[in-house]
Amino acid sequence: MKKIVFALAMLLSAATLAAKPQVVVSIVPLYNITKAITGDMADVTVMVPPGASPHTFSPKPGQLKSLAKADLFIMAGAGLEFWADKMVKASGNRKLKILSVTDGMALVNEEEHVHDGHEHTGSGNPHVWLDPVLAGRIAEKIETEVSLQDPANKPHYLKNLAIFKKKIKVLDAEIKTGVKKFRVKELVSFHPAWVYFESRYGLKEVGVIQTSPGKEPSPKQISDIIEQIKKYGITTIFAESQLPRKAADVIAKEAGVKVLILDPNGAADGDYPGFIRKNFNVMKEAMQ
Ligand SMILES: [Zn+2]
Repeated sequence: MKKIVFALAMLLSAATLAAKPQVVVSIVPLYNITKAITGDMADVTVMVPPGASPHTFSPKPGQLKSLAKADLFIMAGAGLEFWADKMVKASGNRKLKILSVTDGMALVNEEEHVHDGHEHTGSGNPHVWLDPVLAGRIAEKIETEVSLQDPANKPHYLKNLAIFKKKIKVLDAEIKTGVKKFRVKELVSFHPAWVYFESRYGLKEVGVIQTSPGKEPSPKQISDIIEQIKKYGITTIFAESQLPRKAADVIAKEAGVKVLILDPNGAADGDYPGFIRKNFNVMKEAMQ
């Protein structure tokens, strides 16, 4: 009997030692940053799948289960994950630590920020992950939280953070050089996802097709956008892979310009610099 109890105790302690931090992340770009920090030292899953928009997402029952078992939930915050509060409550997970990466960041205010019919005024624009420099700060926050969950492996996480920040530096320099060759600095975006990227690199949003995702532009908004397109000599406007592009096509046809696709939410298993580069290449094609 004693032997069995001893064996069981050994088994349990081994299981505890080997347990990796269980991390759930709301969106793919934050997932990719998290994976860059943890490597294989944590189990990381993403909630909003590639191809879906966090603005129109509704969670699946299985995802509630993974949240119920998680140690850490990483999200953008500022109202982006309008579905998260309910979900965290429903998971019944009282030990769940939540990292909202926009906390403590100076956010761009949005006059109206409507998700699924609920207004989140004053919460600020949540798309901080699209600015590489802010992504570096996000990575620092993630390293801190993951290391709190798994202090023994802090050196590993710190090493990965340093590697990530080096890559960010290269990316940032590349974009700074790239925008110098832009023929136009003004752009028409599909929804206000790129505000942090634009202010980082001296670009200017002169029109937004959907001021809030899913909200079609009024005739007045459409004619304002067309006026801006003509004023600045814009030849290409942007739609997005996760949202219906119809309004962009209508405007493009009226104004006689092209539509190219930006992707603010990225592909899982992609790396963060590659994700930004892919978008920047689309901007180059449109604006250079
Ligand atoms: Zn968005």
